[in-house]
Amino acid sequence: MKFATKVIHGGLKPDPLTGAVMTPIYQTSTFAQESPGVHKGYAYARSKNPTREALENSLAALENGNHAISFGSGLAAQDAVMKTLSPGDEVISTSDLYGGTYRQMMKVYAKYGIKFHFINMDDPQNIQSHINGHTKLIWLETPTNPMLSIVDIEAITKIARANGVLSLVDNTFSSPYLQNPLNLGADIVLHSATKYLGGHSDVVNGAIIVNDQELHKQIRFIQNSCGAIPGPQDCFLVLRGIKTLHLRVQRACDSARLIASHLAGHDKVSRVFYPGFTDHKGHEVAKRQMRDFGGMLSFDLKANTQKASFKVLSNTNYFTLAESLGGVESLIGHPASMTHASIPKEERIKVGLTDSLIRLSVGVEDPDDLINDLDQALSKI
Ligand SMILES: *Cc1c(COP(=O)(O)O)cnc(C)c1O
Repeated sequence: MKFATKVIHGGLKPDPLTGAVMTPIYQTSTFAQESPGVHKGYAYARSKNPTREALENSLAALENGNHAISFGSGLAAQDAVMKTLSPGDEVISTSDLYGGTYRQMMKVYAKYGIKFHFINMDDPQNIQSHINGHTKLIWLETPTNPMLSIVDIEAITKIARANGVLSLVDNTFSSPYLQNPLNLGADIVLHSATKYLGGHSDVVNGAIIVNDQELHKQIRFIQNSCGAIPGPQDCFLVLRGIKTLHLRVQRACDSARLIASHLAGHDKVSRVFYPGFTDHKGHEVAKRQMRDFGGMLSFDLKANTQKASFKVLSNTNYFTLAESLGGVESLIGHPASMTHASIPKEERIKVGLTDSLIRLSVGVEDPDDLINDLDQALSKI
């Protein structure tokens, strides 16, 4: 089945009870039993709910995985993965990680005796020297946020496998339309479905997709034991978003390409970070592992001050100044004070995340209007 068919039909059937073509919202906490333990496959909604199950089947199909588990948020999904670890275990991750992931690792799990290494993964061989007998997990994100660096998934999962270490790819920025990490050797794919999967900025949701039966059982056990489930209404919204995933993401990719080229030639802009440029250091790897280069890009200003970037950020009309990404509407953000405020300044600056860096999440509006909007905001500096 091709991707555009999968988003509509993958893992999904009309509702078996009524024939409803769209999965109903089973807004119930419990299910009637004929006699103790005899029921239609559902007993209590923390463990299993038909709307959530339909979403999980769809997600598994989109990522070419055997099993998907839907969570109340992306960070709840990450939390479940962390709970598979024990004190003394070590995790290797990338240096420009999503701020909330870094915070969960360092402010919550480090105090339970789990050790985290944040390294530059531009050269996959950097990883080998950090692997030891305690290493349990390699955690990567690509393209990275907000610097849009590309990490070579295949090269890194190969190193993980050779060392008996699990690998996880946070695939939020790409969405399953652009990149399928399980096919590139990853053990776990993670999504903040709040972003491209939901796609309309109206729901917070997360997901994990795996192939391995034991890993699936372990994570599902943790979810049922700890309770980070999504409600059925939220699952319905993500299912609805998925139906247009390919259309939305392709439009965002096409417009991001135009905007990146325009900004690269703009006299107020010093640098544009966009993996679609042939001179971007991760371009060749991106071409190999992604279907297109995504709808995210960042740029820095020649003025090089927070004041100048705030001028731009507060003067756009169509780009809304807000956290998050991946919705139909274009968003503009200031990573240093917003998504990455929990990362220490010295760490930020090391990876190029300056106080004047601006991040764009390109939506599905007309690209001419988006370009004109950026031009008039930049003219205010
Ligand atoms: C938003 C985001 C998360 C966290 O997901 P929530 O749904 O907000 O909990 C994790 N990783 C990346 C890359 C994100 O953009």
